[in-house]
Amino acid sequence: MRSIITKLILSFLLVGISGSLIVSLIIWQQTRFAFNQFVITREQEGLLRLLTLYYQRHGSWEGIDTAVKQFRDQGNVPFTNPAFSLDKRPFILTNVEGVVLYSPDPQQIGNRLPQREIRRAVALELNGELVGWIVITPPRQTLQPGSIEERFLRTVRSATMLSAVGATIVALLLGSLLAFGLTRAIRELKGAALDIANGKYGRQVNVRSRDELGDLAMAFNQMSRQLEKAIQARRQMTADIAHELRSPLTVIQGYTEALSDGKLEGEEEVYQILHQETQHLSRLVDDLRLLSLADAGELPLTFQSVEPRLLLERAHARLRIQSEQKQINLLVEAPDNLPSITVDVERMAQVLDNLIQNALRYTSAGGTIQLRADQDDHHVLLQVSDNGTGIAKQDLPRIFDRFYRVDPSRSQNGESGLGLAIVKSLVEAQGGSIQVQSEVGKGTTFTIAFPKAKGNKE
Ligand code: ADP
Repeated sequence: MRSIITKLILSFLLVGISGSLIVSLIIWQQTRFAFNQFVITREQEGLLRLLTLYYQRHGSWEGIDTAVKQFRDQGNVPFTNPAFSLDKRPFILTNVEGVVLYSPDPQQIGNRLPQREIRRAVALELNGELVGWIVITPPRQTLQPGSIEERFLRTVRSATMLSAVGATIVALLLGSLLAFGLTRAIRELKGAALDIANGKYGRQVNVRSRDELGDLAMAFNQMSRQLEKAIQARRQMTADIAHELRSPLTVIQGYTEALSDGKLEGEEEVYQILHQETQHLSRLVDDLRLLSLADAGELPLTFQSVEPRLLLERAHARLRIQSEQKQINLLVEAPDNLPSITVDVERMAQVLDNLIQNALRYTSAGGTIQLRADQDDHHVLLQVSDNGTGIAKQDLPRIFDRFYRVDPSRSQNGESGLGLAIVKSLVEAQGGSIQVQSEVGKGTTFTIAFPKAKGNKE
């Protein structure tokens, strides 16, 4: 009983069989009961008519005892139409007062009928006048074999049995069809899941219905697409990491080989290059570790409430000298009445520094970088805008991707293409979101939004 189809078919069959058995049983019992009632009524009527006729002919019950006995013994009824057959069922006849005139038990004759028997008695009336009482014992349980009544009941019984068998067969057929239909989607899902297990990522199944199975198929498809994306991202990431590690390692390897071969003298400049490259490697490893912690939701964060303006002013203080050296104006613009935000101040410093460093990198001397704090209905906004080179439309959707650089040749100065990926991860880890707007030649604006704390809509 391993397959779900077998289980379903058996369940349908069980329901079908028990249903038709119950129905057949009820029909059979009801028919038999109704039929017996019919037979009793018919016979009772016959007996009543017969006895009334006797009374009418004789004007009293005189001699009824002998007449009935005679009929019982000889099988004919001397006092009535011989075509009328009287069933041999025992009965008791009493006069109007309830004194027994005839009974199969001769001892009873002449006695008063017990009260409980009288309650079952049927009145015998002639021209509207009560002439006696009759008590008929219940019908026999078995009918005469071959009699019309027995044949009728036999036909009813075979018809009910036949319909029970028919209903069972129909239940089996319909059950099988339904079971196959219902399990089709499950079979398909099972096949697709096995495909995925065997490495065919992104496998999709047909959504055949709008019920729970349809929902399951949709969820499966979504999961499969996400899995495919995640696997692709992981492959890409591994390739990118290998690529990023290769260039500093090649430099270090080349210099150390030349030094050990004696082809290169140990000069300060050489050691500086080696130091820079190892620093680059170390930063790359740190960045990757931070991203993996953020991915796993394990980034240690210390939240505290802080005024947005304070965050911008501190960033301004940290990067003022650098911007002055590059002859770029670094300005802070933040109204006083902004609600505080709950963030990790250290991580926010990292985010803002990263964005400002980028802005400094892509803005020429004389340019301006604006650090702005603002709010809309539901968010507190932090913006870093520059009027630098801007980013082309086709690059915008990808700039937050890991290792994505608009110009891949720019890998000096620690530009690994991880900066914005880290910014996004850090902002999201603190419950915020980040967006970018940019136009080539005009400049770029990064907007970070943090939801306002509840009850703090100022
Ligand atoms: P990196 O660490 O190499 O700077 P980022 O992830 O920080 O990489 O940035 C990705 C790309 O986005 C960069 O290669 C750059 O082309 C572009 N970019 C980022 N900030 C700016 C900006 N303020 N102006 C123009 N381009 C930018």
